[in-house]
Amino acid sequence: MKEVRTRFAPSPTGFLHVGSVRTTIFAWLLARHFGGKFLLRVEDTDQERLVPGAIRALLEDLAWMGIDVDEGPSRKDLEMVGELWEGAPEIGGPYGPYIQSLRRVRYQEVAEELIRCGAAYRCDCTPEMLERERLEQMARKELPGYSGYCRDRNVPASAKHVVRFRMPLKRSLTLMDAVKGRVTWDNISLRDMVLLKSDGLPTYHLAVVVDDHDMKISHVMRADEWLATAPLHILLYEALGWEMPVFAHLPNVMGNDGKKLSKRHGATHVSLFREGGYLPEALLNFVSLIGWAPGEGEEQEVFSRDELIKRFSLERVNNAGGIFDYSKLNWMNGVYIRNLSNEEFVKRALPFIEKAGLTPRLDRFNKVSAVVKERVRLMTEVPEMVAFLFTDKIERDLPAMFQKGIDAAKAREILLSAEKRLEAVQNFVAHDLEAALRPLEQEFSMKLGPLFGVVRIAVTGKKVTPPLFESLEALGRDDTMKRIRETLEALPSLQAA
Ligand code: GLU
Repeated sequence: MKEVRTRFAPSPTGFLHVGSVRTTIFAWLLARHFGGKFLLRVEDTDQERLVPGAIRALLEDLAWMGIDVDEGPSRKDLEMVGELWEGAPEIGGPYGPYIQSLRRVRYQEVAEELIRCGAAYRCDCTPEMLERERLEQMARKELPGYSGYCRDRNVPASAKHVVRFRMPLKRSLTLMDAVKGRVTWDNISLRDMVLLKSDGLPTYHLAVVVDDHDMKISHVMRADEWLATAPLHILLYEALGWEMPVFAHLPNVMGNDGKKLSKRHGATHVSLFREGGYLPEALLNFVSLIGWAPGEGEEQEVFSRDELIKRFSLERVNNAGGIFDYSKLNWMNGVYIRNLSNEEFVKRALPFIEKAGLTPRLDRFNKVSAVVKERVRLMTEVPEMVAFLFTDKIERDLPAMFQKGIDAAKAREILLSAEKRLEAVQNFVAHDLEAALRPLEQEFSMKLGPLFGVVRIAVTGKKVTPPLFESLEALGRDDTMKRIRETLEALPSLQAA
C-alpha cells in the first residue's frame, strides 16, 4: 500500500475553528493509524485575508491538542513570509515550502503547461467587462459565470491577464468519495474558472491540486463545501496526467439546533476551549466522536489518543453532519479531569489559579486536589473553589448560614461549640476533625447539613466548597481557628434573615 499522507491546509486568517479541527483530527488519525505522515500546509494565496501571527496560533493550537505535524512550514519558510518567532519549531520536510505564497513559481509553471496543452487559456477581460456580462446574464435569468469570451482569442502573455480552465462543455463525471460514496455530475455546470489571478498567485483550485500532487497526498480530507468544485479538480488531475488522491468530503459540524456551529453555540475556537478550562485530550476525544464511531452499537465513549489512532477508520465516518453537543463535552471533560493523577491535576490547574489573580500555596492545594478534581467539569471552576486557601481576606456570605431555624445567636452558639471541639483535636486531619464535629448533631438536635454549613461559611466564606474536613485540614489549625473567631466577631451585628 502507498504511504498514507494527509494534510491540513488552513488559510491563516485567524484562529482554528473547532469545525475544521474535526476534519484535521480525522486526517491526522488516518495518517497515524497507517503509520503515515500528517502535513500542515498554509494556504495564504488570498493575501488580503492574512492575519499576522495566525500561523503561530495554528501551530500552537495543534500542538496543544496533541496533533503532531510531520511536515509543514520550516523556520526558513516562516522567515520568508515574515512570520518567524523565537522558539518556532523546525518542522519543514522534503516537499517544501509548505506555505503557498512561496510556491508561486511552481503554480505559474503548471498554468503554462495547462495553456500549452489547451486545457487552460489566458483571459484579459476587465472587471468592468465581467460585471457587465454578469448583469446581462442576470437579466436573461441565466446562471452568472464567465461566458468564455477569451477561450479562442489567444491573449498574449504580455497582456494583464488571468488564466482560466477550459471546462468541457458536455461532460459527466463520477467521484468515489470515501465519505460521500458515489457522486455523479451530469453535464458539469461549472464555468471557466480562474486558476491563476492577475497578480500571479493561484486560486485555491490550482494551488490545491498542484500541492496535493507535489506533496504526494494520498487522501484529501476536506470540508464538503469543496465538493461543488471537485469536478474542476478532477479535470485538472486529468489534464495534467496526474494520479488522483482519494477524496473524502466531510460534512459540517452543527450545533444542537442543527445550525452551522457559530459563536451563538459557545466557544468555537480551539484557543477559547483552552482558556475555557477544557483538557486537550478531552476535546480530542470528544471531537473525534462527532460523526465517527469505532463500531456498530459501540457504547464506549472515552478513548485515549492511542486507542483513537488504533481504531480510526475512514469507512466509519458518517456522511451526515455531526452535532457538537457542549453538554456532552463538559461531561467528558469532567471524566478526564477525574482521571488525572492528583499531581497532574495540580500542575494543570495552577495556570488557571494564577490567572484568577491568586498566589497558590501548594502545601494546601495538594491536600484538597483529590477532592476538588472530583467536583469540577472545567479547570476554570477550580480557582473559585480553592481561593479560600490562598488568601487571608475572605468574604463571607453570612446570611447563607441562616436556614433551618438558625439565626445569628444560634450561629454564634454553634461556632463557639465548634471552636471548642476543634481546639481539642490533636491531629488536625480530616478524619479527626469530622469525629470532633459530628457530636454537634446531638448537642443542637439538628441535622448536620446546616450545622456544618455554619462552620463552612465561617471558614471558607462560601456555601459550596470542597468537602468541609479536607478544607479545614488544608487550611490548617491556625487559620481555621482565626477565621472562626473573626466570624464570631462579625455575627452579633447581624439579624437572622
Ligand atoms: N484552504 C482551504 C480552507 O481553508 C483548504 C481546503 C482543503 O483542505 O483543501 O478551506
